[in-house]
Amino acid sequence: MINQTTDMANREKAAEQLNEFKKSSGAASKLTTATGAPVGNKTAIQTVGPRGPALLQDFVFQDEMSHFGRERIPERVVHAKGAGAFGYFEVTHDITRYTKAKVFEHIGKKTPLLARMSTVGGEKGSADTARDPRGFAVKFYTDEGNWDLVGNNTPIFFIRDPMLFPSFIHTQKRNPKTNLKDPDMFWDFITLRPESCHQVSFLFSNRGTPDGFRHMNGYGSHTFKLVNKEGNAVYCKFHYKTNQGIKSLTGAQAGDLGGTDPDYATRDLYNAIEAGNFPSYTLYIQVMTFEEAENWRWNPFDLTKVWPHGEFPLIPVGRLTLNRNPKNYFAEVEQSAFSPAHLVPGIEASPDKMLQGRLYSYSDTHRHRLGTNYQQLPVNCPFNTRVRNYQRDGPQNCDDNQEGAPNYFPNSFNGPQYDLSYVESKVSLSADVGRYNSGYDDNYSQVGLFWRNVLTEEDKRHLILNMSGHLKDAQDFIQKRAVENFSKCDPEYGRRLQQALDEHKRGAQSSAMAANL
Ligand code: NDP
Repeated sequence: MINQTTDMANREKAAEQLNEFKKSSGAASKLTTATGAPVGNKTAIQTVGPRGPALLQDFVFQDEMSHFGRERIPERVVHAKGAGAFGYFEVTHDITRYTKAKVFEHIGKKTPLLARMSTVGGEKGSADTARDPRGFAVKFYTDEGNWDLVGNNTPIFFIRDPMLFPSFIHTQKRNPKTNLKDPDMFWDFITLRPESCHQVSFLFSNRGTPDGFRHMNGYGSHTFKLVNKEGNAVYCKFHYKTNQGIKSLTGAQAGDLGGTDPDYATRDLYNAIEAGNFPSYTLYIQVMTFEEAENWRWNPFDLTKVWPHGEFPLIPVGRLTLNRNPKNYFAEVEQSAFSPAHLVPGIEASPDKMLQGRLYSYSDTHRHRLGTNYQQLPVNCPFNTRVRNYQRDGPQNCDDNQEGAPNYFPNSFNGPQYDLSYVESKVSLSADVGRYNSGYDDNYSQVGLFWRNVLTEEDKRHLILNMSGHLKDAQDFIQKRAVENFSKCDPEYGRRLQQALDEHKRGAQSSAMAANL
């Protein structure tokens, strides 16, 4: 763990940021208004006489104050609190037999990138160490456009149908009346949708409170499709394994840090990069043929399930290294806009319903949060290629608006032309359109494997402790439903959860009795 250093002689890198700026800037520059006009005084508004009143003509004041009133943009509805860093991806193994994506073109190829790691449910000022999945979003600035892999630190998710997403997130946020987190809301939803058992089990293990962003894995989570030069396609999953080693916090450590250093993970990432201790992650893929997908015992597009490594081995691809902190947090992290729909030739969507829902909703939310032209912001702009299209105008258009090029297609005046070699791979589908209930698609067996084969005895103890410590605050009938669900994953899991809840009850009763004495 990197701690805040208060010793003045030995201050951490983050605390030295302003001194570093002073050193590198040479001398203070001339103060101007936003229109570039030099400012004569920055400490006093214009007034009639020394005691006022003030004048409406004071543009120096107006310019500053009216901009200040508009400094905030809407925070992300989810993943509001996050840290970002720039770096590069380097190919170490050839996967061109699976994909023609330029980012994987040849061994040794480097592609610049931005990564943003985050918590999910908390607001922009919330604690980094909260028990929550962590977002793990990467924007690769490839030669054929930006590719965003917008995943989490878990290979799975709570639900498998995006219709449930807004309700699910509401239950992880605040009760609309009390404005408090509400254990009934949380556990009521979770237990009514038992497909969440798998992710909830990860969440309440100590991996639900990673020790910063450097010591956790990342996953593309969804199933994607890779397409090679010949047009042959396979399904694929992406995994980043941390090269710093997995380190997690106990529930107690995470709780303490939430109070003493709510920006713990942000600080840790910033200081490590500033100190030249660049975090890296190894990228692997798993591959499944279309035929295997047809015949597999689980739905390969179900986001609540993994593809077991034994059946679909991890294939190494390359290394992601983070080596530069943002020059400005707002410009480069707050305004960064990741979307699973930002795909590139050679990487395509699969039928994964959650992915299909996200393909629409992420770009949609950025248009609301940042504006129609969010792709023109420097951090989002695909700077390794040139955008040439028929989109024009809109609020805050800030590039050349494609100058004099024709704004309609087709045209006879050298407007940009499409190229059939980039057309997406074909899929043949035929089925009845309907709303298919996926609520009963084997919600328990992979959770049982996780409990029995992956968790050590100590991991199990922490999982039960963490989960019961949260579940105890929900109503009895909800606790009962949770125990029933986890018993279906593994009878021992449910039994130990019930025991821990009973112990909490006894503890509460004895402290209530003690209080009455
Ligand atoms: P493996 O034994 O091959 O792999 C187990 C995986 O579990 C490893 O990736 C490991 O990550 C990860 N893991 C260990 N502890 C935890 C934890 N507390 N929370 C989340 N992940 C953890 O198993 P299989 O592939 O056969 O899958 C068995 C079960 O393992 C699955 O049902 C699933 O629950 C879990 N799992 C599987 C993953 C996959 O993609 N196949 C990924 C993550 C979990 P690491 O290598 O970093 O230690």
